[in-house]
Amino acid sequence: MIRYVHSFSSFGTPDRLLLGGKGADLAQMVQLGLPVPPGFTITTEACRHYLENGAEPPGLQREVSRDLALLEEQVGHRLGDIANPLLLAVRSGAATSMPGMMDTVLDIGLNDRTVVGLAAVTGDERFALDCYRRLLQMFGETVFGIPDDLFAGVLDAVKAERGVEQDLELDADAVRVVVERNKALYDQHAGRPMPQDPQEQLSLAVDAVFRSWHSDRAALYRRRNGISDDLGTAVNVQVMVFGNRGPRSGSGVAFTRDPATGDLGDYGEYLPTAQGEDVVSGVRTAVPLAHLRDIDLASYRRLRSVMGTLERHYRDMCDIEFTIEEGRLWILQTRVGKRSPAAAFRIAADLVEEGWITRDEALLRVTGEQLTQLMFPRFEAPDGRKELAVGLAASPGAAVGRVVLDSATAVEWAGRGEDVILVRKETRPEDLAGMVAAKGVLTSRGGRTSHAAVVARAMGLPCVCGAGALEIDLDKRQVSVGAGRTIAEGDVISLDGASGGVFLGARRTVDSEVVQWLEGGLRDGELISAVAGLLDHADAVRRLRIRANADTHEDAARAMRFGAEGIGLCRTEHMFLGDRRTYLQRVILAADEHERTSALAQLLRLQRGDFESLLAETDGQVTAIRLLDAPLHEFLPDLTQMAVRVALAEKRGGATRLDRRRLADAQRVHEENPMTGLRGVRLGIVHPDLVRTQALALFEAAADVRDRGGRVDLELMVPLVSTAAELEFVQTLVMEVAEDVARRRGDVDFRFGTMVETPRAALTAGQLARSAEFLSFGTNDLTQLTWGFSRDDVERSVLPRYLDAGVLRQSPFASIDVDGVGSLVKSAVEQARAVRPEIAAGVCGEHGGDPASIHFFDGIGIDYVSCSPFRIPVARLEAGRAAL
Ligand code: ADP
Ligand code: MG
Ligand code: MG
Repeated sequence: MIRYVHSFSSFGTPDRLLLGGKGADLAQMVQLGLPVPPGFTITTEACRHYLENGAEPPGLQREVSRDLALLEEQVGHRLGDIANPLLLAVRSGAATSMPGMMDTVLDIGLNDRTVVGLAAVTGDERFALDCYRRLLQMFGETVFGIPDDLFAGVLDAVKAERGVEQDLELDADAVRVVVERNKALYDQHAGRPMPQDPQEQLSLAVDAVFRSWHSDRAALYRRRNGISDDLGTAVNVQVMVFGNRGPRSGSGVAFTRDPATGDLGDYGEYLPTAQGEDVVSGVRTAVPLAHLRDIDLASYRRLRSVMGTLERHYRDMCDIEFTIEEGRLWILQTRVGKRSPAAAFRIAADLVEEGWITRDEALLRVTGEQLTQLMFPRFEAPDGRKELAVGLAASPGAAVGRVVLDSATAVEWAGRGEDVILVRKETRPEDLAGMVAAKGVLTSRGGRTSHAAVVARAMGLPCVCGAGALEIDLDKRQVSVGAGRTIAEGDVISLDGASGGVFLGARRTVDSEVVQWLEGGLRDGELISAVAGLLDHADAVRRLRIRANADTHEDAARAMRFGAEGIGLCRTEHMFLGDRRTYLQRVILAADEHERTSALAQLLRLQRGDFESLLAETDGQVTAIRLLDAPLHEFLPDLTQMAVRVALAEKRGGATRLDRRRLADAQRVHEENPMTGLRGVRLGIVHPDLVRTQALALFEAAADVRDRGGRVDLELMVPLVSTAAELEFVQTLVMEVAEDVARRRGDVDFRFGTMVETPRAALTAGQLARSAEFLSFGTNDLTQLTWGFSRDDVERSVLPRYLDAGVLRQSPFASIDVDGVGSLVKSAVEQARAVRPEIAAGVCGEHGGDPASIHFFDGIGIDYVSCSPFRIPVARLEAGRAAL
């Protein structure tokens, strides 16, 4: 028989998929002998059943009753007992942590009668009423969907009436008023009063937590983090402990290491006289955890020892939610903690040093995405500008953008291409869409464990929180920053997530520490040594070779500094741009042979120089040169402009013969669909002289470099091939040139290969392999042509809608489409190797720098990926991770 309910104190290794992360970790902590309030977990399987059938699985109620009875026996009082009521927390908890995305209801079991009992048994009426008003609020929001700002409004109104600022200053009578008004909200918005039966409360709360799996914010979070929609959440039912019982009680969050930097020490926050939600929601700003030492030394020491136990058990940085009730410490949650990208590298490297994990494990704990974040620019050293405001440095990074005061505005403005900074009193889970749209987040309340801080760190989004001087006026759409100054929505500010500074206007940015190091400028620092160590290890274990897409010797030089092992793609198009366009125009449009020959001679001279400096830079590292590919229209005069000019000239008394001839030429070569017209190999077959000239420039440059004592490892590849005959045609041209150069200058070694960019090329790769010594998959074009997507167009018009509607989970241009394009690549490699087993296969599309794609390519036996110089370190790291 399936069991849907498991006590925290069950034996065995907790199953995260079934119990959710929170449930599994609670059970784990019980096994470690830590002080956890008792309870039980309802499995994700029960949730999936509920979501599929709209009803709890049969037998669930019976199981819950059984475990509840055991719980009551264990703690010695009962749910609904008027004299001494047991209260319960009903907490969501999915397999993959989705902090704050789903619902939790505390203080289940209170009603008009038990609240009196709770007051009597604790001797604290205000406390009992405070729990009741919290239950009314959380239950109303979660079960009946009563908007939370209505409850917040009640609380604010009563505080205003009593002339107090803080919740804590409300006396029992005032809290009673809050309770009554909260109840009234039920009649108005739920059409029924708050259920008084504790059993009914429990089962309604459990169902509501199940349903919160499908809340908009949870769905958005999953989409952003690639979490599957059909896992469901577990529900943890747990005995309540009370941090809001008085000054000897409180709630807090602790990290075993600093989640922003990875430093060792006391990290976290504590809020006396508070239930846990108060810390996370940022209603009041908590004190640093270190202050707990002064407030309650014994609990502080116990907490430190728990932190040690947990870090040793998980062999990783943990975050911990705890509550102290009347001097007694309770641990409510732990998990391997979310951390900033810098902290991820530092912690992984430190744990290796400390002997807790191996280098392989450390490599698996950092990601290319995190390394990308570390390569983003940061602000230049202070430019004398004074801070507009200062808050807590909650999530590092530099953000510049226009102030927006709510999520909807953030989404709207970002949608039209503006950089925005979301400025809020505090963020709530509903603000996720706005945070996703923003370049940074600024809040006036809450600490480094507030919602804004936690979510921003996980997203790698710069965040400053708790900037207390800010007062946000949503009616006037402005923010006062103290000393009589205000800024308006739409003003540009700069946010320094590393220092907590907020500045008016746009500050200038500089290279990050990691980029400075990669560029050879910076040698020491703990972050650098962590990154360097992990990259070294990745290089040692990876199977994939990493090359760069570099068109100029400057790009090539940077790529080499960043660790590239050669050039996988040098596009020669840039050799025809700028002033050089006219030479190409003359070749294509030339009226006579003389004009054409002289233009070709110019091109030869220029390209030879380009190739020489590139080959000098790569100095013996493999360098793959691609013949001219670009669609012709990029090099030719614009037809419309020219037609207008000629028409105007005619009107003013006649255009010249030359004008008319140029127009006729342009009309002759004009294409409706240049991307699928005369480009790539086709250009080389229609204008063989272009191929000859490029080959000649390349081989002579190679001979020059060699004769000067340099080393050369050369590959020449042909773009946009569809059939073996095209490739052979070009191969013949190239070989003639090579033989000619060999006669004059001695042999120049090179390998001849082809790009695979059309579906036909992929499908007939076996035939191509007869002439090609290597295949280089151009996955941008291959994706474009396989999908029939014009990249430039669909990225604006189609893909955003597809992603929104869930038609696509990700853009096939960002990450390889494994089922379609990926399977073409895989079978092409297999066919080619059947013909020529030693054939080398590489990928030089943008996918070559994408982590998920790199793992896929590693798995299908690709030999190398080639990506832009800036992505090289990420590719090295991910290729290492892929090999483990
Ligand atoms: P989340 O997944 O959003 O962190 P939790 O289930 O952890 O949600 O609950 C939110 C807060 O409720 C926690 O921070 C904790 O302080 C408080 N809480 C949860 N369970 C209990 C409990 N048994 N007793 C007292 N407070 C609790
Ligand atoms: Mg919550
Ligand atoms: Mg929690």
